[in-house]
Amino acid sequence: VVLVGNLIGEDHVNFVLMYNMLTGIRIAVSRCQAKIRRELTTEDFIARHKYSFDIVGNELTPSAKYDFKFKDYAPWVFRVLREDHFHLDPADYLLSLTAKYILSELGSPGKSGSFFYFSRDYRFIIKTIHHAEHKFLLKILPRYYEHVKANPHTLLSRFYGLHRVKLPRGKKIHFVIMNNLFPPHKDIHETYDLKGSTVGREYSEEKATLNPRAVLKDLNWINRGKMLELGPEKRALITEQLRRDAELLKEINVMDYSLLVGIHNMQRGNRDKVRKNTLKVFQPDMPEPGTPGAPSVITMRRIMRSSDPKRLGKNTIKLPEADTGERQHFIFYQDEGGLRATDESNDAMNTIYYLGVIDILTPYSFRKKLEHLWKGLQDDIHKISPVPPEEYADRFFDFMKAIMRGGGGGARFKADYKPG
Ligand code: ATP
Ligand code: CA
Ligand code: CA
Repeated sequence: VVLVGNLIGEDHVNFVLMYNMLTGIRIAVSRCQAKIRRELTTEDFIARHKYSFDIVGNELTPSAKYDFKFKDYAPWVFRVLREDHFHLDPADYLLSLTAKYILSELGSPGKSGSFFYFSRDYRFIIKTIHHAEHKFLLKILPRYYEHVKANPHTLLSRFYGLHRVKLPRGKKIHFVIMNNLFPPHKDIHETYDLKGSTVGREYSEEKATLNPRAVLKDLNWINRGKMLELGPEKRALITEQLRRDAELLKEINVMDYSLLVGIHNMQRGNRDKVRKNTLKVFQPDMPEPGTPGAPSVITMRRIMRSSDPKRLGKNTIKLPEADTGERQHFIFYQDEGGLRATDESNDAMNTIYYLGVIDILTPYSFRKKLEHLWKGLQDDIHKISPVPPEEYADRFFDFMKAIMRGGGGGARFKADYKPG
């Protein structure tokens, strides 16, 4: 399988940022990794290590192409998370991210202005986040850590690192490294971002026919009459895990997260040998992540390339053909890196789901409360996206039960399904 991505070469506007992020990760992570393992202390959760890079270099940091500062947050906590709980091989992690300075950019798929980058092998995602999200992750880190420890099969985003790059003119860019839910070796034929909210949660079906890679939403799911096909065994497991994860999300007081579901149809297989991604091309000025409306999209173009390796352009990367190791440790990511559909007798069906709970760093802030009131004036106050965390989590959990065949519950959503 070959992925077509928007590779960041030296001429790309975000090349310097990418170079700085990867250089920082390489040095900071290998420094922490070089030390002998020890037990975590409470200080580890507030620790931050600073690095200053320049062209000359010093005893702490080798010389770099550019001047910049790098901060590594709670490095020990993330090291323990990666090694003990997320089953990543330390050398592998660094190699995937930094062996060659290659990332592909997804631009900003969300409204938030965050940028997404894939590691060369498509296993890791770097997401730039707002300062508020950054502070929030640090605040809840002890709680997140405990949850992951107690729930090795959690469906929540797996955070592998939290860092900051500061550019010479003082601009600060915060970012997290997390798991890519979607596998490098399987085509995803349909993608849904589900919240359990039904107001405005629809991607135009007309546009969807033009762009099969579009991220669809709750109403598309309902109107297409889709169901998660999971037999009694898997259904019981995933329901229980979702219940526990939703409890944590309630406790840390967040909302607006979603269940991301990628569907691989095994009959269709990887016939679409070349991933045809819709790429966004940005203005040559990197927009401040977080500014409303940023980044502005100048053009959208579909790039299709031949799967003939001799004809691979510079925008293509060769991807691994098989599933990589760590997913074997997790029950919901065990079948080709995902969760194979099963029928009522628990027999395998021809679909693999790739799913997880993403975007979990949005607290119910003053702004969200206003949005709740404002949108509540125009639509059903219980069906809009911004609702208080407790209600959000219950509705989310209910929706997930409603979309599982045989899942029971979710009466309020069953009513939304159109007959036929
Ligand atoms: P907004 O706040 O406007 O919803 P955001 O910038 O916070 O957007 P996310 O909701 O985290 O972005 O993600 C946007 C999209 O990026 C998702 O719908 C999904 O298609 C893709 N995505 C995000 N995280 C992952 C992941 N871990 N694995 C695979 N795809 C992901
Ligand atoms: Ca989101
Ligand atoms: Ca978000």
